Amino acid sequence: MITKNLHHIKSSLPEHVTLVAVSKTKPIADIQEAYDAGQRVFGENKIQEMVTKYEALPKDIEWHMIGHLQKNKVKYMAHFVNLIHGVDSLKTLEEINKQAAKHNRTINCLLQAKIAKEDSKFGLSFNEIEAILSSEEITKLNNINISGLMGMATFTEDENQLSEEFSSLYNFYSKLKETYPTLTTLSMGMSGDYELAIEKGSNMVRIGSSIFGVRNYIA
Ligand SMILES: *Cc1c(COP(=O)(O)O)cnc(C)c1O
Repeated sequence: MITKNLHHIKSSLPEHVTLVAVSKTKPIADIQEAYDAGQRVFGENKIQEMVTKYEALPKDIEWHMIGHLQKNKVKYMAHFVNLIHGVDSLKTLEEINKQAAKHNRTINCLLQAKIAKEDSKFGLSFNEIEAILSSEEITKLNNINISGLMGMATFTEDENQLSEEFSSLYNFYSKLKETYPTLTTLSMGMSGDYELAIEKGSNMVRIGSSIFGVRNYIA
């Protein structure tokens, strides 16, 4: 099923859109199946779980951390993580920079914007994002690269609301790019809303259940 789902989704994605296969809670055998079907980019939301999977699986996999970050655990993934999607403070960026430096690496990060109306979603306001990008502190962080923005829309089937949230982030991202041309990634869209997200300007989608099947618990 995984192979079939993956091919189906991949064939429907425009070429400029990167597919992150969200494998959180799923066993290593499932990830191996997706790998054998050609998938190389995987997303996890718990650092410990990602480390275990990284160690067990082929080393040409690109691992993305998509969950909310616990600063004290960044060190466990600093030697291999490829992109961290959910960064929402300068303090976290400083910690990522510190751990990346220990391994002589540059770690790509996305700043998480709060676009959902729900209070439960993490993220920065657009003003806070601009403040981070223009700060004095950021210029000293040589081992991180802020390569774009990430957003999660409200959990709703209201297409108008989703459209509005995705568009507002895309417009903000486009405007920021004029000042910060190194921003190249806009990560938005999950199983339920990725087609709309792409229509509204996303170039990276994070898809879990439509590839691997439903999860047994909300992670
Ligand atoms: C779990 C998760 C996804 C994938 O969700 P699906 O609905 O299963 O596609 C995407 N993004 C984040 C941040 C997640 O935690």
